[in-house]
Amino acid sequence: MSRLSNRIESLAESATIAMAAKAREFKQKGIDVISLSLGEPDFKTPKHIQEGAKQAIDEGKYFAYPPVNGYLDLRQAISEKFEKENGLKYGPNQIVVSNGAKQSIANVMFALLNPGDEVIVFSPFWVSYTAMIQLAEGKPVFVEGTIENDFKATAAQLKAAITSKTKAIIFSSPCNPTGSVFTKEELSAIADVVLEHDDLYVIADEIYEHINYTGAHCSIGALPGMNDRTITVNGVAKGFAMTGWRVGYIGAPEWIAKGANKMQGQVTSANCGIAQRATYTALTSDLGPTREMAAAYLKRRAVVHGLLSAIPGVKTNMPEGAFYFFPDVSYYFGKKFEDQVIENATDLCMYLLENAHVSLVTGAAFGAPKCVRLSYAASEEDLTEAISRIKKALSNLK
Ligand code: PMP
Repeated sequence: MSRLSNRIESLAESATIAMAAKAREFKQKGIDVISLSLGEPDFKTPKHIQEGAKQAIDEGKYFAYPPVNGYLDLRQAISEKFEKENGLKYGPNQIVVSNGAKQSIANVMFALLNPGDEVIVFSPFWVSYTAMIQLAEGKPVFVEGTIENDFKATAAQLKAAITSKTKAIIFSSPCNPTGSVFTKEELSAIADVVLEHDDLYVIADEIYEHINYTGAHCSIGALPGMNDRTITVNGVAKGFAMTGWRVGYIGAPEWIAKGANKMQGQVTSANCGIAQRATYTALTSDLGPTREMAAAYLKRRAVVHGLLSAIPGVKTNMPEGAFYFFPDVSYYFGKKFEDQVIENATDLCMYLLENAHVSLVTGAAFGAPKCVRLSYAASEEDLTEAISRIKKALSNLK
């Protein structure tokens, strides 16, 4: 019998992290695994941001506990960024800087949910949303987008899923795992539904904001009437290649920001002061390096789309942002390699890791069991080789 709490026992392990660990195991055995499973830029943090952190160390002023919600000048810079880039109005006291957007979202779930409160999750969804909702004793309710609709749930679906217990809605745009981007019209229709209800909030995860090939990022919180209803989540991990610095932030109605701050104050306190200084540099500098990285992802997207489309039975759409493809691979379910039957996407990922030495993540982790997620945050050379190996391994399934 486990001595761990029921809470932890029933918590799912992050599938993306688990797959990355499996790939690492293979690599340690000397096997040349191409890892396309983790949502992590393959670029280094731009030099000027590194310099910002070095300068902060040399100044010697940032070694003590920072304010729980983050340094004031950083919160001011975030407030200006929100206004200038997104048309969002959150003052510095409505901003909480956290240990990655992951902690930002967890804070919000704990600040908002009472046991039994429902959170509508647009599916496919980022793996940790449901785990966080469950930890906060809420109940995830899914509305599902289909590949034909670029995996985007609609306002009509949302409307049908709302009950008297619905407290919040969460989705990411650009989306992890699908790369989909909600248009202003789609978000306006969603906002209209939200505004029909009192005490209903949107948690808008915009961490992939800068990796958007449509040229138009829309923040739902900037739409009429939505400022008081939206918690906007963002961070520096993806757009600035700063995953390891662990900085995310929210802009939120002040009472929610206070709740998040209270939670953070008891669990972790502020995040690392030097990482906050690096973030200050990132958010107050020219976006040139960010745009260059986005241009490289765009180029790779074309390569990957061409290669994936040429594999029989793999059905893919054209993602408009982030750095993922989310193909439907259900054509291969029920097929066999020797005695091994591929029952589902999880089996297929394991088969590809073992036989093609490529790691992907099963769509089951994201609420879409017919799909797999492939991250193209990798070199064109690795992507080409990986997809050629995948194609060959799939051709051996009969
Ligand atoms: N939201 C989404 C949609 C993500 O993909 C990620 C990172 N994989 C996060 C939030 C968390 O970001 P961070 O690294 O800043 O915690």
